[in-house]
Amino acid sequence: MRLVAMLLWGMLALVGCSSREEAKRPPDKLQVIVTLFPLYDMARAIGGEHATVSLLLPPGAEAHSFEPRPGDILRLHQSDLFIYTGPFMEPWAESLLKGVDSKRLGAINAGIGIPLLKQGKEQADADGHEHGHGGGDPHIWLDFRNAETMVTTIATGFTAKDPAHAASFRLNAQRYRARLAELDRRYRSGLADCGSRTVIHAGHFAFGYLAKRYGLRYLSAFPSSGDSEPNARQMATMVELVRSTGVGAIYYEELVSPRLADTLAKETGSRLLLLSAAHNVSREELARGITLPEIMEHNLENLRQGLKCR
Ligand SMILES: [Zn+2]
Repeated sequence: MRLVAMLLWGMLALVGCSSREEAKRPPDKLQVIVTLFPLYDMARAIGGEHATVSLLLPPGAEAHSFEPRPGDILRLHQSDLFIYTGPFMEPWAESLLKGVDSKRLGAINAGIGIPLLKQGKEQADADGHEHGHGGGDPHIWLDFRNAETMVTTIATGFTAKDPAHAASFRLNAQRYRARLAELDRRYRSGLADCGSRTVIHAGHFAFGYLAKRYGLRYLSAFPSSGDSEPNARQMATMVELVRSTGVGAIYYEELVSPRLADTLAKETGSRLLLLSAAHNVSREELARGITLPEIMEHNLENLRQGLKCR
């Protein structure tokens, strides 16, 4: 129900600004604020020269448990569009929006129309417990087909706000989707013939979509997003899993100390490789203009190495 209200609110805000309000606004760039890095990369590619896109999460900040600051409400007041992944990925986004009373601001739920997979299923099977939140796995951008849908949704939102540049948004979105489709082909062929198909991730459950799409078995140390460190028993289970599957690589997640991954790797004589879900990037990566496709290319390289693919 809250989701429906949210969507309606977003649409009303978009409609409300389309006529007279729009005419009053100086013909400069759309001011766009996004929650997470994948949206940042998509929005800046789609907006091109007609939008200024900024990331709400400070570089390096954790995405799921982020707490918006008072200054963020102010930033939203000064913006035309706010884009988020969905109510289960950034539960803080809705409460942030509630604090904003702006006729100008439109909200785009980029995850609209994308069915959520069950979260942490593999891990639940492995230790006999049911994990995951009711909303399902919110890391939808890690399936390139979903990412294509998100790009289309964002481009539609841009066009509703700034119809004069619709052709440009459409073309930019087309190009981005083509890049995603190319990544999909590269993943499919790159992961077709591998020594192992089990990915052991010493991070939170984020790659369920990717694993499903390319037929991999995915095990994560933290089955749902806000989980704390695994206890001794879970740790022993993971060590046992690594040994029994004969996987020679442990993957660690972005932007956190790979302490758990490090311990697991040492304990089992495995190598450590990064598998970034791209929720956010570091200040240095942001400054050098890293893109989502670049991160996903690097992930593919590491998957191919760790799984011994030909
Ligand atoms: Zn996550």
